[in-house]
Amino acid sequence: MNAIVKIESLKKYFPVTGGVMGKTVNQVKAVDDVSLEIGMGETLGLVGESGCGKTTVGRLSIRLLEPTGGKIYFEGQNIFDLNSAELTRLRPKMQIIFQDPYSSLNPRFTVERIIGEALLIHKMADRKTLKQKVEAIMEKVGLSPKYARRYPHEFSGGQRQRIGIARALALNPKYIVCDEPVSALDVSIQAQIINLLQTLQEEGDISMLFISHDLNVVKHLSQRTAVMYLGKIVETAPTDVLNREAAHPYTQALLASKPSLNPKERKQRIILGGDVPSPMNPPSGCHFHPRCPKVMDHCKTEAPRTLQLSPGHTVDCHLYNDPA
Ligand code: ATP
Repeated sequence: MNAIVKIESLKKYFPVTGGVMGKTVNQVKAVDDVSLEIGMGETLGLVGESGCGKTTVGRLSIRLLEPTGGKIYFEGQNIFDLNSAELTRLRPKMQIIFQDPYSSLNPRFTVERIIGEALLIHKMADRKTLKQKVEAIMEKVGLSPKYARRYPHEFSGGQRQRIGIARALALNPKYIVCDEPVSALDVSIQAQIINLLQTLQEEGDISMLFISHDLNVVKHLSQRTAVMYLGKIVETAPTDVLNREAAHPYTQALLASKPSLNPKERKQRIILGGDVPSPMNPPSGCHFHPRCPKVMDHCKTEAPRTLQLSPGHTVDCHLYNDPA
């Protein structure tokens, strides 16, 4: 694969401080040895329950966070080796769309300013061309340019997310992290935003990391999907293969929990017990073993290796190391 983003052995441990001296007493292993690739023009879905580390991977992938370890190559360059001037030059190529469009848009700025500011900062427009460029981007995301002078609170949730998308697109990025971009929206509006992202993906040569807790949402946009559990990737596969032949018991449970109105699609429901354990004290062996319906004795002590089941389909699960 011709990768635009290559993540190698990425780790992010957040310190947990305590006591009057504020000493580090523990660590949250939010991302623990993650390796992933995103191809040119590809959308990779990243799914998992809340708190498993998806957002942290997304933020690290455009260096909004510094890692504890590992490397991320963007167009062949390790972004953590770049100095601040080099990083500033790269910034326009790497953008992010946030879950909550309201809190990520400055309420005191007009839409025109929200979209146009980065264009001016990165000298991709001047005062003369700015208005025209902003209007073109607004049209591209389905917003009427006549609203350019309005403020974020004057728009609906879906329109605000269009503003967030317009801001990300303004700089002509090569790679966009979409961090739960539709989770805060009404179901009817979700489809519109997904359609918009799909059109943009088809029109431009944009690669995306599409983060969601919902496999249904990821299905529409992602060519490949990675499943994350407690800081680790447990399965990756082309999205259609994952939906048909999920191998990891965790992926199977996620798929079984998604509601479907189509009786043919109804699967046996697998109920996962309890919440995701704390990444501060992850379970020994396979992190998923306390909730796994197929747990075996050695799952409690040995971490599984990554195994390739078919081209592009990998799983970290003892069931496949030692088939029963
Ligand atoms: P959600 O969908 O709820 O955002 P997520 O899968 O995106 O979840 P992250 O937000 O990446 O997960 O968080 C992973 C873990 O790291 C969580 O336990 C979270 O509490 C912790 N974490 C994230 N950011 C920080 C931080 N700045 N300081 C300490 N812990 C953090």
